[in-house]
Amino acid sequence: MKKFELSPLPYAYDALQPYISKEIMTLHHDKHHLAYVNGANAALEKLEKSRKGELEIDVKAVLKEFSFNFAGHILHSLFWNNMGPNKGGMPKVKVAEQINNDFGSFDAFKKEFSSAAKTVEGSGWALLAFDCETKQLFVLQIEKHNVLMVAGLKPLLVLDVFEHAYYLDYKNDRANYVENWWNVVNWDDVEKRFSMVM
Ligand code: MN
Repeated sequence: MKKFELSPLPYAYDALQPYISKEIMTLHHDKHHLAYVNGANAALEKLEKSRKGELEIDVKAVLKEFSFNFAGHILHSLFWNNMGPNKGGMPKVKVAEQINNDFGSFDAFKKEFSSAAKTVEGSGWALLAFDCETKQLFVLQIEKHNVLMVAGLKPLLVLDVFEHAYYLDYKNDRANYVENWWNVVNWDDVEKRFSMVM
């Protein structure tokens, strides 16, 4: 069995200050993300034992656990790389062009993405994804890590709006967190991901 692993952050814990504090990044990466990695591995281990006849499992319950934790691991791995110090600004060449084609303008995209992030019911994510079939970008709103997800779309840019992602810095003001988050978006990383799937 291949185990899931937690990669180190691609920058220092305090690199995204003042927009996201060192305290949040430390807890978010070292505790929350790690818990999803461990959860995905635990579910996988149950499946593996069940396949060998060593354990009787409730497949439905284990797959639910697996989906939530594995999706959480994937989203957080993306999220860390989607951000960086001294970033923000505007999307790069190919992504900028595709955003203009599909949303009309960067401002229209930003408004739709921000609204998706601000209005997630409870915990979830906003996501910019590319459909390789129709060659279009879409904004999705995900509840938890895996609800409302559309299979097959390639994720390019994600924003975590679980309370653990902002509460220590922004208290209940999720909207302010979302607005500030644009200052740490790593558009080079988004461009790289888009180049691989377009
Ligand atoms: Mn999170």
